[in-house]
Amino acid sequence: MGKAAAGRAPNHESWADDALTAALAEAHIPSLVNALVHLTGDAALIRGDIRPTSTMFGDPQGGIGAADQAAIRQRALAALREYRDAGCPPLPPPAPELVKEMVDFIVGAQLDDGYGEFLMSELKVFDEDPYRVSFGHLPSEARAKFHVVVVGAGMSGILTAIRLSQAGIGYTVIEKNADVGGTWFENRYPGCRVDSPNHTYSYSFAPNDWPQHFSPQNVLLDYFDRIATEFGIRANIRLRTEVIEARYAADGAWQVRVRGPHGEETVTANAIVSAVGQLNRPKLPNIEGVGSFAGPAFHTAQWQAEHDLTNKRVAVIGTGASAFQTVPEIAQAAERVTVFQRTPPWVAPRAEYHDAITSGKHWLLNNVPFYGKWFRFWMFWTTGEGLLGMVKRDPAWNEERSVSAANDQLRAMLTANVEQMVGDDAELLAKCVPQYPPAGKRMLVDNGHWFRALKRDNVELVTDPIARINRSGVETRSGRQVDADVLIYGTGFYASRLLFPMQLYGKDGVELRERWGVDPRAYLGVVMPGYPNLFCCYGPNTNIVVNGSIIFFSECEVRYIMGCLKLLIERGLAAMDCRAEVHDTYNEKIDAGNQNMAWGSPNVHSWYKNEHGRVTQNWPFTLLEFWNQTKSPDPEDYTFA
Ligand code: NAP
Repeated sequence: MGKAAAGRAPNHESWADDALTAALAEAHIPSLVNALVHLTGDAALIRGDIRPTSTMFGDPQGGIGAADQAAIRQRALAALREYRDAGCPPLPPPAPELVKEMVDFIVGAQLDDGYGEFLMSELKVFDEDPYRVSFGHLPSEARAKFHVVVVGAGMSGILTAIRLSQAGIGYTVIEKNADVGGTWFENRYPGCRVDSPNHTYSYSFAPNDWPQHFSPQNVLLDYFDRIATEFGIRANIRLRTEVIEARYAADGAWQVRVRGPHGEETVTANAIVSAVGQLNRPKLPNIEGVGSFAGPAFHTAQWQAEHDLTNKRVAVIGTGASAFQTVPEIAQAAERVTVFQRTPPWVAPRAEYHDAITSGKHWLLNNVPFYGKWFRFWMFWTTGEGLLGMVKRDPAWNEERSVSAANDQLRAMLTANVEQMVGDDAELLAKCVPQYPPAGKRMLVDNGHWFRALKRDNVELVTDPIARINRSGVETRSGRQVDADVLIYGTGFYASRLLFPMQLYGKDGVELRERWGVDPRAYLGVVMPGYPNLFCCYGPNTNIVVNGSIIFFSECEVRYIMGCLKLLIERGLAAMDCRAEVHDTYNEKIDAGNQNMAWGSPNVHSWYKNEHGRVTQNWPFTLLEFWNQTKSPDPEDYTFA
């Protein structure tokens, strides 16, 4: 992104006047305005009347009207021609105060100071790598002597390995699959794609020229695959190998038992980083007769591509994120698709959900200095804190179907979208409007694909509860039998069985999941008292419902973990163990926070909660708070050995 900032000569016809005009027609105007400030040095552009006013759903141009857009494009054309004719010289870095002003401009608000450093680190206007912890001053022997076992080579495991490798710390990544990629390696159901904008669903230090705004699974897999190669971590990854158990020994080391293609062995590690994710153990529903279906039956995360669904009668159980993506694809080939829905999802409209990034957009992202950075930043902001205010509970609000006036407003907006999509079919409409508050469960993203699929002649949405599964199909409680050739479970994962099936024995010999029971807890989602030098990525209470991308959380977590390792190596210490009182106080705050959110509502049932109704998965606060808390470890939070 913004390669021209380095002074690349414009030797290509894509810089011709016509090409510039065509590319600018596709520009994201708020990002373009800020890029223009870089190009021209003219801060008046962001101090006038033209400014984004709405950064939420709806207008992707932030409410900037057509005439103003045209004026900005004209101005940009002149500036780009001038820049081209000057040979695309490197641009001077902007003054930090000006960047702050540009941030306020693009978010459409004056943000208080707490956000300054945080947002600047996301923006990376000076090409810094704010999530990288510097180990430069520590002797290289001390770093190399330290050995970390990373469990999992998905998004978080690859990230951890990159940071360890940059720090010169020894490490081995243990990966159960035949290759890297984690969730993108495993989930291969038709229609699988990322549902956070790709420009934010990528490592902050490795932007990509994404083909789509929300790219499909194979593109995501290619990205993680390429990153693993480019950052040189592959030699340290042991594939087709699983961690069975790990035991903490008194001297600050972990004995990690692994099982690979050549049998079992024990690896010694100074620290373990679990990067196994929350959603990698598929769950079949607790329905009578599961397993009795005579035909092919499989989970979305264990797709059996050998079963051609063309002209088949397919039954799909579930309408969560996975089923939601795959049903419209299956419906195009199948004879009939019957979708069994227990609870409808809330759906956020997103026109560009399946759109390719057009050539003009690619050009702008790749050639206009700083444009790509501001575009990523816009995506980060509009899908970040922006929506949080609308999903917070107002204790004085007494509705079952919303949690505050703002949430009710969101409900009205989302309901209007459903009405627009299926309003001509009263029966379907009634099935598609959820009765729980928006953001009670994960909100799904759609450009109409899902609703159009539900309206197809060969698709039926059944809300009659399932009584049992039998040899020939699914029987509902009203006694209806739906025969099928293929049965697909889009029924989610054992999310609350965190770290399953690994067994991790801590200081006192107690296994971690036994200690947790149904109630996984950690300090900052990363560390657990009694389990020194064991760190989690995407651990308890680090999942998100409406704000941010999981990659952001992983980058924060890994920065924190690297800070912990630095502390140990710097001080020549063997182990650090989180203080129980710090952990407990933190979890009280988390619980109170989650009770204040839509997903904490008593009338919402989801995989975010355990059987006692406690939200074990989600982060209830702002991204800024997570970023601040995980910036670096406070030694006061730990005891050392
Ligand atoms: P999920 O959201 O947990 O959905 C499971 C579905 O199965 C729900 O509709 C659930 O109904 C239904 N179900 C479960 N047990 C049932 C039963 N006994 N009878 C009837 N219906 C039953 O699982 P998922 O769709 O795999 O998604 C899990 C998470 O993975 C998502 O929230 C998201 O974080 C992630 N994900 C992300 C993407 C992406 O980025 N593209 C794609 C897929 C998944 P209830 O709602 O009533 O429980």
